[in-house]
Amino acid sequence: MQQVKAIQINENKKLCFRCGNNQETLFFKSPCSHCGSEECWYCRNCIIMGKMTACANLFFLPSVMSTSHQRDTYLAWKGELSPGQRVASDKVHQAVKDRENLLLWAVAGSGKTEMMFEGMNEVLVNGGRLCVASPRVDVCLELFPRLQEVFPDVDMVCLYGDSTDVYNGERFVVATTHQLVRFYEAFDVVFIDEVDAFPYAKDPFLEYAVKKAQLRTGCSIFITATPDRKWQKECGNGKRNFVKVPARYHRKSLPVPQKIWVGNWKKELQKQKIPSKIHQWMRQKLSEDCPVLLFFPEIKVMLEVASILEHLNFEPLLTVHSADPERKEKVQQMRDGTIRLLLTTTILERGVTFTNVQVGVFGSEGRIFTESALVQISGRAGRKFDYPSGDVLFFHNGVSKNMALAISQIKMMNQLGKRQGLLDEN
Ligand SMILES: [Zn+2]
Ligand SMILES: [Zn+2]
Repeated sequence: MQQVKAIQINENKKLCFRCGNNQETLFFKSPCSHCGSEECWYCRNCIIMGKMTACANLFFLPSVMSTSHQRDTYLAWKGELSPGQRVASDKVHQAVKDRENLLLWAVAGSGKTEMMFEGMNEVLVNGGRLCVASPRVDVCLELFPRLQEVFPDVDMVCLYGDSTDVYNGERFVVATTHQLVRFYEAFDVVFIDEVDAFPYAKDPFLEYAVKKAQLRTGCSIFITATPDRKWQKECGNGKRNFVKVPARYHRKSLPVPQKIWVGNWKKELQKQKIPSKIHQWMRQKLSEDCPVLLFFPEIKVMLEVASILEHLNFEPLLTVHSADPERKEKVQQMRDGTIRLLLTTTILERGVTFTNVQVGVFGSEGRIFTESALVQISGRAGRKFDYPSGDVLFFHNGVSKNMALAISQIKMMNQLGKRQGLLDEN
């Protein structure tokens, strides 16, 4: 075991080795039961993972190259990559070989998991170690059994906030990004899914955690459908190694959002009304037997609209938001088709697939609807092979910059897909 001081104090500067915090205001003193001191420093930044005091040491399993039972391949997957996936997969494979960071910019519904298999296999056949990290527990739980099937002979562990699994030096770790702070020089390659997703996009410690978790000679593969502006710019001016996957696996273009002006909807809500364009569209789609997913800028607005819709006989409908304890069940009801109308906050902007869903955004000019949120929301439509298209309507009272950016990003991907021959005509 390697041993490192948990909080490094040099003169008056402090660094929490676990999370990388070096802000003076985030260190506090308290009486300590470990060392008996009345004033032992601890880090508030990572306290949700357990109190880390200055008298504690962190222990790390040194990374050991596995030399036993080396094999030509560990990959048991027999599926086939689409041409777009093939390009990305080769690029990931090369980046892993060269130990180079790479951004995999793949549109929603392109099948990004499969694009990582060969790169992962490359790490494993060379006796290396890897981690797949996602900010969301649901994603980890979904990925883990899938990856176990794909690499059946590799020891794997899934780590998240309240998981009962313990890290035992497995070569293949699936973990929430939070858990990365537990590792030190442990992985040859870290694959980070949804690198832009809340709450890590604005977390300066993610970068620290990733760097600390990987070997000095290691690299990271960043995966997202919606890199932020800064990363997009770096791709544009050659400062970031990247590969774009502009097309979905079903070879149909991404639905381009339409902007529908609905006037001052706040005023209408005060009169217990919603813009007629919105409920007419919903009425029509539901009568065509399509499920409808309507996004809202805030919970309060969503609940107001829900009660108005109930008066208009739009039943049954459900609402869902991040603090909703029945979130999972409601999403499942929508999947099963027992309800056809689901109102939601941005909580469902990513990670969900509903067959033939039609998507609306109520008050899309709202500031919560960032460029990436709107691109992700649009990516909910047309995901299925049998239903590759669908409405995406931005109901607004004035076009925001984010709306314009999101639409141009989607159009850019469609053009690129066409140019690369990854889309069927029409
Ligand atoms: Zn102490
Ligand atoms: Zn800390």
